[in-house]
Amino acid sequence: MVKFLKFFTFIPFINRLVFRKYYATGVGIYLVNSFYKRFLGINKGNFLVHYTSCVHTSKNIVVKGKNCSSVYLSFATSGGCYYQAINGITIGEGTIWSYNCSFISSNHGFIDLKIHTKAEPIVIGENVWIGANCVILPSVKLGDNVIVGAGSVVTKCFDNNSVIAGNPAKLLFMRCSKCGDKMINNVCLNCIK
Ligand SMILES: [Zn+2]
Repeated sequence: MVKFLKFFTFIPFINRLVFRKYYATGVGIYLVNSFYKRFLGINKGNFLVHYTSCVHTSKNIVVKGKNCSSVYLSFATSGGCYYQAINGITIGEGTIWSYNCSFISSNHGFIDLKIHTKAEPIVIGENVWIGANCVILPSVKLGDNVIVGAGSVVTKCFDNNSVIAGNPAKLLFMRCSKCGDKMINNVCLNCIK
């Protein structure tokens, strides 16, 4: 049945119903991405990636959760991104990212540049927002509800509800775990109203 329906995935409506992976972009970008993937063999994998982005080892990319449309939408519409998943990249549901983001899960060896070094996978939590031009480096783990400011270079792990920015990215402040608003001295002004 799935094989049969897969035949019709060029129809966006069928996609939306059956393959949430290919979810809900405009028809134009869907067709362009599909053309690059199917006919030119660029960014092959289980889901559509923007035609200007580059995926390395897409089989190691894991998207977790039930409502992952925003993740697949980011894959399909955020151009100029680089997903290097040699050591694995896991992304939680509700996460979004912008243009020109790089997710780099493995470094080159110092002695032999052709070798990719082993490292822990990159793990991005749920409902994370990554601004434009960010770089996520090997072994980085971001908790849920993290916000990464534009142009950040994330070199280490951050807990749930962190708001981080800079190169290297540093903690700016925390978000309220209830409403998501900015916390000042561990107090959420929105929640104490
Ligand atoms: Zn609050």
